[in-house]
Amino acid sequence: MQNEIANYSKSEAKRELARLSLLLKRANQAYHRDDDPIISDSEFDKLKALNQEIEKHFPELKRRDSQSQTVGAKPARGFSKIKHSIRMLSLANAFDENDLIEFDIRVKKHLGLPEVHQISYVAEPKIDGLSLSLRYEKGRLIYAVTRGDGEIGEDVTENARTIKSIPEMIESDYDVLEVRGEVYISHEDFLSLNKKQEEKGEKPFANSRNAAAGSLRQLDNEITKHRPLKFFAYAWGEASKALGQTQFAAIAKLNSLGFETNPLTKKTNSIMGLIDHYKLIEQKRNSIGYDIDGVVYKVDDLSLQLRLGFTTSTPRWAIAHKFPAELAWTFLKKIDLQIGRTGALSPVARLEPVTVGGVVVSNATLHNEDYIAGLDSNGGIIRDGKDIREGDWVQVYRAGDVIPKISDVDVSKRIQVSQTFNFPINCPSCNSSTVREENDAVRRCSNFFDCPAQVIEKLKHFVSRRAFDIDGLGEKQIEQFFHYKWISEPSEIFELEENYLQDLLEKDGWGVRSVENLVNSINEKRLISFEKLLFSLGIRHLGEGGSRLLARHYLTWSNFSKAMENISNLESDSWDDLISIDGVGDMLANSLMNTFNSERQKAQIYRLVSKLNIEDQEHRIESDGKFSGKKLVFTGTLEKMSRGEAKMHAERLGAQVAGSVSAKTDLVIFGPGAGSKLKKAEVLGIRAIDEDEWIKLIGTE
Ligand SMILES: [Zn+2]
Repeated sequence: MQNEIANYSKSEAKRELARLSLLLKRANQAYHRDDDPIISDSEFDKLKALNQEIEKHFPELKRRDSQSQTVGAKPARGFSKIKHSIRMLSLANAFDENDLIEFDIRVKKHLGLPEVHQISYVAEPKIDGLSLSLRYEKGRLIYAVTRGDGEIGEDVTENARTIKSIPEMIESDYDVLEVRGEVYISHEDFLSLNKKQEEKGEKPFANSRNAAAGSLRQLDNEITKHRPLKFFAYAWGEASKALGQTQFAAIAKLNSLGFETNPLTKKTNSIMGLIDHYKLIEQKRNSIGYDIDGVVYKVDDLSLQLRLGFTTSTPRWAIAHKFPAELAWTFLKKIDLQIGRTGALSPVARLEPVTVGGVVVSNATLHNEDYIAGLDSNGGIIRDGKDIREGDWVQVYRAGDVIPKISDVDVSKRIQVSQTFNFPINCPSCNSSTVREENDAVRRCSNFFDCPAQVIEKLKHFVSRRAFDIDGLGEKQIEQFFHYKWISEPSEIFELEENYLQDLLEKDGWGVRSVENLVNSINEKRLISFEKLLFSLGIRHLGEGGSRLLARHYLTWSNFSKAMENISNLESDSWDDLISIDGVGDMLANSLMNTFNSERQKAQIYRLVSKLNIEDQEHRIESDGKFSGKKLVFTGTLEKMSRGEAKMHAERLGAQVAGSVSAKTDLVIFGPGAGSKLKKAEVLGIRAIDEDEWIKLIGTE
């Protein structure tokens, strides 16, 4: 991953950060605010780690809304808000023993201690619930507040008062004591709660964490009262006097004040001790009776905690060692190769069906030949270099809704005659040679035009739901018609009626009615939007998003095709114009160039287009926007918002964002590094403003 990131261009990194920001924001909201997660926790952690890694390589690109620093989501509406007197932070994560060893080294480095020095740590299970801060003043519960975004949480006092393990009064001479911990629900209570939900015809909770969070954040505390919530104390916020000298003593003190604390909390003097305790807790995970998702380690000495302090988002003296994603071992029966519409040979593992995290899995992706050989895309070693073979025992891994992957191979169970899996030198479909281009992990069939597998996949893509979506012409019919040699390229779909109507009527399973329906639905699709057409062409690297960008930019097929005729000249305005489209990268631009450079491919596209009636892209103009009908051009680097965000604001206010300056341009927004476009604007006498002025204009600050 690191190597890959180091190779990112600035614009790639920026785009990736924008994508991750959006994803993480959505996932955060779904998880914390709506209690309805959209991705698995381990997937979330991975995305967050990726985000941080990119920020580390490109600190200058760090977004103002960077999700690396946020913990949780902004509070939901409906509860009043309370600002934490001391920030309520989440913890940094460790995913393996190495991360843990590095954590220990960082701690000692920060404290200026020699590496051989042994630090005392406290380890405790990480409860998968909802964090809560309870404020007691002179022994009385004043308020209870959720973590929220770490700064401000929701006031859930009345609901917290209904939880039995949260005392209303504590015997204490503390003027102020904020007790922090986790609200959770036991497995047993979770099952009966979900049963009741179903009986009432309500949606069951996805997991016990969501059940706990959803119950605590009920606007009606009568409902909360009947939910079996529990509370473990493990930390504190403001305290008018110290709870103890050490973490361990402080937790014991909380226990003596009447709070439940976790009995699996343990003090140890070495990293090995932590690892042992982690293994013990992981073993107990399924019998412990409530959800935990890892083990938390904290420096025991509170004076050291104070010296270590905090980074922007996490304490330096603690780390959460997360359990790995859901795993299961099974038998790999066979490796199949699927040939995609771009000729890519994709290996798929056919598995003895096995349940992984509640879902039956019988296939797993194997990505490409390097992956099978035990190498990542940079030639680095994965799975300790173990290759994957037919007949192997493999560990399947599933995170969220993504396609299952293989995380490990049990080489000890491998039979002696097993052989390494070799990718074929010839295409399994057409026997042409397969090629692997430099810097491409994928091996492809070289017979782009005539490989039956590729042609069929291209046709299937063309009629698929998100493309031409022709009723009655699905994958099965495509295969049939290809087999009859009626259709070998998209344009021939529109000649079917003319050439093969009689033949079709004579085929089994086809009657007058169904043939008529098919002909009608094909003819209906002769009218197609420019955007859909672009996507349907199946040009490599041109997905729906890219098709939309191109359609919005060129507006008509005729503009687009004229431009494509010229892009092979890299000095041309057409090429400049293409690559200046925000969101169009080098890969897509080159792919378009290759497509329109190929006479045969171009001829296919034109044959298709001649049969169609292509709708121009609508200019959607917000008639009451500040920039209604105006053409804007961004140039240079924007420093306070991403290009994407700037474009979003511009379009929201009715503007059309263009990639190049012309006499029709109304306004140019420039940042550092602006060159020829800004000069051109000056020559043409077009108004140009810098980013600060732009921000004032759109009123985001
Ligand atoms: Zn082939």
